Amino acid sequence: MSRAYNFCAGPAALPTAVLEQAQQEMLDYQGKGLSIMEMSHRDQVFVELAARAEQDLRDLMGISDDYAVLFLQGGASTQFAMVPMNLLGEGQSADYINTGQWSKKAIKEAGRYGRINVAASSEDTHFTTVPPQDTWQRSDNAAYLHYCPNETIGGLEYSFIPEVGDTPLVADMSSTILSRPVDVNRFGLIYAGAQKNIGPAGLTLVIVRKDLLGRAADSVPAMLNYQIHADNDSMYNTPPTYAWYLAGLVFQWLKKQGGVGSMAQINQRKAEKLYGFIDNSDFYSNPVEKISRSWMNVPFVLADDSLDKAFLAQAEQAGLLNLKGHRSVGGMRASIYNAVPEAAVDALIAFMADFEKRNG
Ligand code: PMP
Repeated sequence: MSRAYNFCAGPAALPTAVLEQAQQEMLDYQGKGLSIMEMSHRDQVFVELAARAEQDLRDLMGISDDYAVLFLQGGASTQFAMVPMNLLGEGQSADYINTGQWSKKAIKEAGRYGRINVAASSEDTHFTTVPPQDTWQRSDNAAYLHYCPNETIGGLEYSFIPEVGDTPLVADMSSTILSRPVDVNRFGLIYAGAQKNIGPAGLTLVIVRKDLLGRAADSVPAMLNYQIHADNDSMYNTPPTYAWYLAGLVFQWLKKQGGVGSMAQINQRKAEKLYGFIDNSDFYSNPVEKISRSWMNVPFVLADDSLDKAFLAQAEQAGLLNLKGHRSVGGMRASIYNAVPEAAVDALIAFMADFEKRNG
């Protein structure tokens, strides 16, 4: 068996140890004579597994009982709608910070439900900066403030958690959750699609402060109402059981690695190596201001973009997969989530140095 190094932005690499365990348990889950996929979500075996996964996530992130943890479907994109549907009351407005393509999508979707104030935007720097908080033009009495701590496409990551007083802070953590410790108590709501640092696609996590539940209008469909999911332990309908199971294995794997504090050290080292190499080269470059460079998604361009195709083809031959940048920005992007080992970054840097030598 040979597994290549996978730099995909999502669905992204999963820890090999997790896939091996899933493989071992595939046909006969813990002697029950069937796979976890074929079991009722009401079966005690699954109910216990689901609760364990939630508890492991609570342990990893330090999530208190003041918060509900929901295991939903529909991807982070559904949260772009669910957040305003559940938190934006009649006649209220919400503040949004625009730092890239994912912020923009969230803003556009929220605009269908109520008044949105874009309190700050870094579009003028082509999303290579995070607007300093003292420039934000927040509205009075906003229902919440939404931001995207890590823009997956632009590779832009906030170096701070916004200070918003009593306003609930809502974060799209899809591409940064579990990459480093965060103080969950600073947030009203956190959401994340699973397919980067959590597990396979099809599962979406929502961590929501309980006092924010129960605010949705009656017209909001049951499946889009946080309160209903919370009241039913995320089993109002059939949840994505296999994705939930795999997420649980990833949480256990993270605990074995020493938790998110240990991951943060490794992630910082991986990112600093790669940015350091890029900055030392005239052949490659990254445009993002240094303080706001993502630890998870590292976009870079070649000085001569006519070499892009050769770069990607040769990288693939060298076992370095999915380095093509997002179609909206071009160039390259290396996504180096938790499950991408430091050896993968070392191999990428060695390949980039060699490619530069041959083509520079
Ligand atoms: N937000 C961010 C920051 C993302 O990276 C993505 C997916 N790449 C999304 C939202 C959309 O997620 P999904 O495809 O799960 O709807």
